[in-house]
Amino acid sequence: MPGAELIGAEERKEINDVLETGILFRYNHEQQRKGHWKAKTFEEELAKFTGARYALMCSSGTTAVALCMAACGIGYGDEVIVPPFTYIATIEGVLLAGALPKFVDIDETLCLNPEALQAAITPRTKAVVLVHMCGAMAQVDKIAQICQRHNLILIEDTAQALGASFKGKMLGTFGKMGAFSFDFFKIITAGEGGAIITDDQQLYLNAEMFSDHGHDHIGDNRGMEGHPVLGTNFRISELHAAVGLAQLRKIDYILTQQRKHKKKLKETLAQFPEITFRYLPDPEGDSATFLSFFLPNEEIARRTVKALAENGVSGVQYWYDNHFHYIRNWEHLRGMKTLFKIPAQVLPCPQDYATVAFPASDAIMQRLTSLLIRVTWTEEELEALCQKITKALSKVLAKQFV
Ligand SMILES: *Cc1c(COP(=O)(O)O)cnc(C)c1O
Repeated sequence: MPGAELIGAEERKEINDVLETGILFRYNHEQQRKGHWKAKTFEEELAKFTGARYALMCSSGTTAVALCMAACGIGYGDEVIVPPFTYIATIEGVLLAGALPKFVDIDETLCLNPEALQAAITPRTKAVVLVHMCGAMAQVDKIAQICQRHNLILIEDTAQALGASFKGKMLGTFGKMGAFSFDFFKIITAGEGGAIITDDQQLYLNAEMFSDHGHDHIGDNRGMEGHPVLGTNFRISELHAAVGLAQLRKIDYILTQQRKHKKKLKETLAQFPEITFRYLPDPEGDSATFLSFFLPNEEIARRTVKALAENGVSGVQYWYDNHFHYIRNWEHLRGMKTLFKIPAQVLPCPQDYATVAFPASDAIMQRLTSLLIRVTWTEEELEALCQKITKALSKVLAKQFV
């Protein structure tokens, strides 16, 4: 939760700008707002930071994924390839569009496995939502190539990976659209909020219309604007955008600190030869918000997680058991427990969600552990943490030089 650790004077200043004018709405009211356009400014700065031509804020990362679906024309009955390891919101965005998720195994990047993806494509496949999990990149070059070859729409869910890049190009810019989240737990936070980025003007305009009831935002009289298409409300408020703006201006600091802290933690873990690390196709581009590593098997992984907790190491994730991040525990999805009927319940689906199994992903997830990297650790705190980790791991694992 790096952004949330840094909430302070800068966020208060941006919020106060908005409260002083009283214009909490992101559009119109040019006279009263005294030059304060928080959402618009955030979008300009996010586009610049990512290198995308267009950015649009919205109310959450979930609605950002839904906006990508809508803008790209992905909907009723379309088959969309997704990973089984993601925050469930990715899948919600696909289901709410009326599309049908097809789960494909991950590899040791913790993201979609390009070979498995290639093998899963059928004539019915329309799009791929590639999730860059836990702060770093998938094999995005290979996956983008596969999508291009098969004429599939590539959407990147970069909710967990703001500022991460592959060979110098920001994640979120490899596909048609990228989706970000700024909820309380992400690399930067707006309290709640999200954004999409794209280089395609029409997709941007589609997203802009859809996120605001179909408004074309032409002219300065909202009541008289045209509505070329039906939409809904996925707007962000100026208050949230204000917090997001102050946070976005801290991203370089966040990335620098995370990378520094991660390097030290990684060196600590590397003392133990039984530990291997998540495969990073471009280590330089890692946002370093997590340090993800593998133990030799599930049993040792569980003992390691327990030993870390017993030695006072906090922020340890064992995703295989986590209720929101791995399909194994998504009982509501497995049972299609919905409040209203959705296309995935009435159309033939690419998989039987109740029974579909992922032995290859399970084998990775069972051995996987992640440590959350904090931005605000002092050198002493980090040193003490490394000592705790060494002590905990020495109880479970053999050390290289003792
Ligand atoms: C957090 C997250 C989302 C959803 O973001 P919200 O802002 O919480 O709606 C979507 N996808 C991934 C991968 C996420 O981690």
